[in-house]
Amino acid sequence: VPELPEVEIHARNLRGWLVGKRIAEAQVLDPMLDAENGGAGWAAPVSGRRVQAVRRDAKYLLIDLDEADTLVAHLRMTGRFRSVGYRAAPPEKWVRMVLALEDGTEVQFEDRRRFGRVWLAPTAAVRSLPELAELGPDALEAPTSAGRLTELAAMTSRSIKVLLMDQRLIGGIGNICAAEILYRARIAPDRPARSLTAEEVERIAQTIPPYLEWAIAVQSRRELIYLGEKGAENVFTVYRREGEPCPECATPIARSVIAGRGTYYCPGCQPSRGEG
Ligand SMILES: [Zn+2]
Repeated sequence: VPELPEVEIHARNLRGWLVGKRIAEAQVLDPMLDAENGGAGWAAPVSGRRVQAVRRDAKYLLIDLDEADTLVAHLRMTGRFRSVGYRAAPPEKWVRMVLALEDGTEVQFEDRRRFGRVWLAPTAAVRSLPELAELGPDALEAPTSAGRLTELAAMTSRSIKVLLMDQRLIGGIGNICAAEILYRARIAPDRPARSLTAEEVERIAQTIPPYLEWAIAVQSRRELIYLGEKGAENVFTVYRREGEPCPECATPIARSVIAGRGTYYCPGCQPSRGEG
């Protein structure tokens, strides 16, 4: 499942493929892509437009077009963009949308599970769309300070892992990122957020941006394969590594469930209570 690092890689790829280019024709092959608006109403108006910029906000991709409109995309479970040099055959089965560019290349949106969404909105209104209006500051572009994280922790009775994943508080951190960040900060994921010491909160805040940069660097490629898909490589340190030895202390990585989500941690490096 794509989280901030995977969406950022898409943003960087899309920038190279799209910015400055004219969309000769947009085709929506699956009305589910914009189900809320009844299908593919935006394909015709997008055809002929030029791409001016590609941005990312938390897990949303924003493709700015001329005439002040933006294509907003959310990859959800299995969505991904890819660039095709030229079309040798009809699009493959899972391609939901095609942006055919004037230079003959295509950018395709592929999505096996069909939860991904792409829709058109006025650029000025993007941040007030219902989906984006309540997003917290982006975890990479506007990192949460230790002071702010202390405030957030004091306001909740939830665990630190659930807090980190709350998109209204911090934008972009999902289940994988939260597990990996807490492992690196040596904090047990089930610790109540408000039980953390100032030093522990600071450790978490200081771990987030470098972890995200690392995850972007290590996964960067033209076509992303998500963990759990055929051909995927697990680049993560604890996520989905139950029973494997911790690289730091050799304790077997454990799995638990917090708020319905599978969580991975090292019981040696991340003790559940007090000082480690
Ligand atoms: Zn360990």
